[in-house]
Amino acid sequence: MEAVATGSVIPANRRRPPMEEDRLVFETSKGVEPITSFAEMGIKDDLLRGIYQYGFEKPSAIQQRAVLPIISGRDVIAQAQSGTGKTSMIALTVCQVVDTKNSEVQALILSPTRELAAQTEKVILAIGDYINIQAHACIGGKSVGEDIRKLEHGVQVVSGTPGRVCDMIKRRTLRTRAIKLLILGIKQFFVAVEREEWKFDTLCDLYDTLTITQAVIFCNTKRKVDWLTNKMREHNFTVSSMHGDMPQKERDAIMAEFRGGTTRVLITTDVWARGLDVSLVINYDLPNNRELYIHRIGRSGRFGRKGVAINFVKSDDIKILRDIEQYYSTQIDEMPMNVADLI
Ligand code: ADP
Ligand code: MG
Repeated sequence: MEAVATGSVIPANRRRPPMEEDRLVFETSKGVEPITSFAEMGIKDDLLRGIYQYGFEKPSAIQQRAVLPIISGRDVIAQAQSGTGKTSMIALTVCQVVDTKNSEVQALILSPTRELAAQTEKVILAIGDYINIQAHACIGGKSVGEDIRKLEHGVQVVSGTPGRVCDMIKRRTLRTRAIKLLILGIKQFFVAVEREEWKFDTLCDLYDTLTITQAVIFCNTKRKVDWLTNKMREHNFTVSSMHGDMPQKERDAIMAEFRGGTTRVLITTDVWARGLDVSLVINYDLPNNRELYIHRIGRSGRFGRKGVAINFVKSDDIKILRDIEQYYSTQIDEMPMNVADLI
């Protein structure tokens, strides 16, 4: 059987120009301290060699802040402009976390485009040259047979686009049980609704978008879940709904239905956020705290999916949204017209 791809050869001692980051301002969550050298991050020796050989001398601003939390297993949201070292950071954290003696897939990276997925694979293979990492780009438009062959041969890292990755998981060619690192960038939007009553119309307008794949709609109370479910049904929309007052049996049945794809829209409260993974999360009501926000949007963009979160925001909710945005140093833009293309 053909060997999996090996790293591209980087000329020895190639020096990369220092990154121009002086004008960048970084906001960082409490407790995260910048670490200014790769060695101090506890990166394994053979990987350090690869990083230096690749031409990196010191970590960039985002790498100084995010590498350690990622490799220590924390859930991390890292966001910065292009050219600040995010792709390289993904590559090096993946290399650090993967056990190269184990041939199962341990890291899965999802990118919105084929180019990005292929580029990430290339950087992983280059930086991880000395640790002999096996990575594969699983992207649409390339031979499915080739993907199957490589995955069955054993790769530790898959860098792919959502459609193809999802396909490989469904075929059970890509096995997810050994995955310890999952990387994706969930897109977050808001829709300004001014008044509570407008949320419903907005949701109806979005229904076609919701059913492109699957969506979860979060409300803050059980009563609201019931109310919204009934109102959607009155308007002839097919929706499932679930909350903590339902008997376990009924909840299991609803989850099975949803997982199996019979229903595509699930209206629920936070209790049921666990164990769900969908492309689209709607916060019909903004959650009452920041942690809940992350748990909710974390339901989107999991295995094999791109991940979009849409927040319905009343005028008096804007402050809460800005607070979330600031706290997580993230960006929540107004929902674009072409949101369906992003799912
Ligand atoms: P992003 O994904 O944020 O756009 P990249 O990881 O692609 O950024 O990095 C942009 C450029 O900077 C690339 O040429 C990359 O090789 C280089 N680079 C990244 N990190 C470092 C570093 N620590 N030191 C020097 N160059 C770096
Ligand atoms: Mg990049």
